[in-house]
Amino acid sequence: MMSHSQRPILIAGGGPVGVIAALALARQDIPVQLFEAENRVSDAPRAATTHPATLEMLSDLGLVDEVIHRGLIARRFQFWDRASRELIAEFDHAVLEGDTAFPFIVQCEQHKLANMALERLRAYPHADVQFSARVTSVVPLEDRVDITVKTAAGSRTVSGGYLIGADGGRSTVRKALGIEFEGYTFPERFLVLTTPFDFGAVGTWCKRNYFSDPNEWASLFKVAGDDGSGLWRVVFPTRPHETNQQALNEEAVQRRLHKFFPRTGPYPVVHRNLYHVHQRVAAAFRKGRAFLAGDAAHINNPIGGLGLNFGIHDAVELTALLGRVIRREAPADVLDQYERRRRPLNIEYVQQETIANKRRMEEKDPAVRAANFQALRNIAAYPANHRAYLLRSSLLESVRRDTVPSGERQHFLWPASTHTGSRAGEACADKCL
Ligand SMILES: Cc1cc2nc3c(=O)[nH]c(=O)nc-3n(C[C@H](O)[C@H](O)[C@H](O)COP(=O)(O)OP(=O)(O)OC[C@H]3O[C@@H](n4cnc5c(N)ncnc54)[C@H](O)[C@@H]3O)c2cc1C
Repeated sequence: MMSHSQRPILIAGGGPVGVIAALALARQDIPVQLFEAENRVSDAPRAATTHPATLEMLSDLGLVDEVIHRGLIARRFQFWDRASRELIAEFDHAVLEGDTAFPFIVQCEQHKLANMALERLRAYPHADVQFSARVTSVVPLEDRVDITVKTAAGSRTVSGGYLIGADGGRSTVRKALGIEFEGYTFPERFLVLTTPFDFGAVGTWCKRNYFSDPNEWASLFKVAGDDGSGLWRVVFPTRPHETNQQALNEEAVQRRLHKFFPRTGPYPVVHRNLYHVHQRVAAAFRKGRAFLAGDAAHINNPIGGLGLNFGIHDAVELTALLGRVIRREAPADVLDQYERRRRPLNIEYVQQETIANKRRMEEKDPAVRAANFQALRNIAAYPANHRAYLLRSSLLESVRRDTVPSGERQHFLWPASTHTGSRAGEACADKCL
């Protein structure tokens, strides 16, 4: 048993990564204090796609049954040519039956996952969660970390044995530690339109669909919605200089949706959201006793649904290492493994994958588009290729890997040809991060 008089582990951020980290610590009997700036978990439509590797971890945390119950099982995903409306390839996670107990994806909205974990945290007296409590400064010291927490009652200093900065892309913790967020921001934003219109009744698509188009790609996903009745999210890129008003006004929204799938009458739209999109990785994931996890450490475009999944893996791996050190099962220097492993894995499995996914969706060169489509057909047609592709895209390969590129710290090198519109994007980096 851990002594509850020891200094707690502090967590900045009550998004899904912060609360999963808190639960993973509380279950090891380690005292934890979590501070969330807002007064509740955000229910903005962001992550839903939960991959097999993550389902395995959520199973260990006692969450997977509820995630499946409150989400939607999606075994297959499809890749389409939007221009010709031709189905290019379909992928089926059933080929992973020999690899995992969860050969499928679950579409479960991230606010549901965060709230489930928070509910379980209440059962642990050594876990303290405070909302409307913003971390405003961080001082990493030899034997502890001090943070300043600002609430309506004023500011106070809180000391912990370690700090996990899970405070999202604009991370105060990362900035306070002086860690650079290397990479770039795309000039266009992603527009997410959510509708109860049942796309499942009018097309042969499945619950996760990608539509490549040189003029305007799209993706289409089904989620359960809070009441389980089903909602569809349609994602489009904006034009680089499109304003909020131009993208979000009713006429423009209807025009985009009708161009995607013409129907009689207007689409009911229950949410319309715009997101800045980045490819960035923190130059370091650790400074002394302070660590970064989730979007605070890395951020990527959402095509492929990898960012939160990888962030949950960060939380699970980091809290396992911290547990071993706190229980004195391992020397403190095993904590170096966190950055040594997670940073290169993020570059290889998340940054490179999502950059390639986005390029495949927006490719303009007809010859390259044709080659991409043929490559996808070949992957889907041959079982060994199909399995290898899904092992990678589901992050199973990354979590099973026990070695990562060794030697000097990997730099976040960007293939120049993928770096589209970076200058315009950089101009918005301060504003949007
Ligand atoms: C449109 C879209 C679709 C996506 N789809 C997927 C998907 O299908 N699958 C996937 O894996 N990923 C997806 N992602 C990415 C996913 O949403 C993020 O990776 C995920 O939200 C990261 O979780 P987090 O807990 O690290 O950060 P966040 O969710 O950003 O949470 C950070 C929390 O910290 C709080 N906070 C901030 N500053 C402070 C402070 N100073 N003190 C205290 N609290 C603070 C914030 O209020 C927030 O609650 C998608 C993203 C977008 C935009």
